[in-house]
Amino acid sequence: MEPRREVDRSDAGAAQGEAGGLGEGREDPLSVARTLVLDAGYQPLRIIGWRRAICMSFLDKVEVLAHYAFDIPTPSHSYPTPAVVRLLGQLRVRPQVVRFSRRNVYLRDDHRCQYCGVVFPAAELTLDHVVPRVAGGKTSWTNVVAACRPCNRRKGGRTPEQAGLTLPKPPLRPRWSPQRLLPRMPAAVPEAWLDWIFTRS
Ligand SMILES: [Zn+2]
Repeated sequence: MEPRREVDRSDAGAAQGEAGGLGEGREDPLSVARTLVLDAGYQPLRIIGWRRAICMSFLDKVEVLAHYAFDIPTPSHSYPTPAVVRLLGQLRVRPQVVRFSRRNVYLRDDHRCQYCGVVFPAAELTLDHVVPRVAGGKTSWTNVVAACRPCNRRKGGRTPEQAGLTLPKPPLRPRWSPQRLLPRMPAAVPEAWLDWIFTRS
């Protein structure tokens, strides 16, 4: 991508409004900017930080479809901030395999403790092995759920039945869908994304 001449802070601030209200108040737009990733078939796949999007762009793994109105300043020059990128290469024919991770388990469970049903911020959630590890339970989509600390402590090294707890639904491996992106959507959806995502209607 072509380096762009550096913009001063006031320009970046003014651009913030144009870009669809990223961030709140005087927050630096770069500190909250995220990039929407589309698959080769232009379907929304995930939302990542702009730094990672820049790396993927330099590695020719993605093409940049839209930029934010603010640039990324570097000592020598500045670069336009990618807002939407598309993965280059073969279109996946198989369903997308969702990587098992703490964050993805919390997303699958809507940040809701699966035992008491209360929604918590990620920092207050834990991963609970439904069948405890000591009893041979695996660390996998179908045996790990989001749980708050008190529920996790209460359950201890027991199965839900032994602890007198019930799961609202069996834990399953999720599939991505546009709805899956919503938990990570910025409060104000960047204007540059609107052509690519389904809005809540
Ligand atoms: Zn709980």
